[in-house]
Amino acid sequence: MNIAENLNEVSEAIKLSAIKSNRPPEDIVLIAVTKNVEPEIIQEAIDQGVTHIGENKVQEITRKYEILGDKVTWHMIGHLQRNKVKYIIDKVDYIHSVDSYSLALEIDKRAGGINRKMKCLLEVNISGEESKYGLNPQEVVPLLRQLEELENIEIVGLMTMAPFVEDPEETRQYFRGMKELALRLSEESFKNADIKLLSMGMSNDYPVAVEEGASFVRVGSAIFHRY
Ligand SMILES: *Cc1c(COP(=O)(O)O)cnc(C)c1O
Repeated sequence: MNIAENLNEVSEAIKLSAIKSNRPPEDIVLIAVTKNVEPEIIQEAIDQGVTHIGENKVQEITRKYEILGDKVTWHMIGHLQRNKVKYIIDKVDYIHSVDSYSLALEIDKRAGGINRKMKCLLEVNISGEESKYGLNPQEVVPLLRQLEELENIEIVGLMTMAPFVEDPEETRQYFRGMKELALRLSEESFKNADIKLLSMGMSNDYPVAVEEGASFVRVGSAIFHRY
């Protein structure tokens, strides 16, 4: 097994799940999650066609961005502290983990400072597990209303992490719940939100997530585990 083979396997599985659920395969974007992966290995993945990179730590983004630069699309997928927004605001293209007004406010302020609009996703704790970050589903609409005053962010979707379970089938209910939530939101109109993207599915459950409507899958170990 090598990166090329792993990537090929993941892409094929995405395609199969898309076809199975009558979705165009090109609607699904693979984010290669590169935590614990060094830049030379990431470069290998880029050489094999990876164009989207996901990291869950600010320090890792700044360190790796210095080497890899903006030839890839960067996604901040992990919990983000307000005081660290300033380090990544000019580096990432998407922030998947917005879960409070105060964090969104800081992102808006920093984005405005460099004259850009940051694409954000709201993180939803769809399973209700204590240990997970994210909004309860019923908090989403009130937050979206609150965020309407912010001009330098654009809410493009929702993100979730399903519980880790042995049988990926058990995650289906959560992914389906996310899709239903997104559909409900699309019936309302918000000044700076157009909820079109669903960031869901990791190495153990991305085929199920794609079947249930994922637009971004965040896959790490299935690509990089041999390194
Ligand atoms: C690590 C991580 C992933 C990828 O997990 P794998 O199981 O390695 O595919 C996806 N999303 C987030 C938020 C992560 O921290």
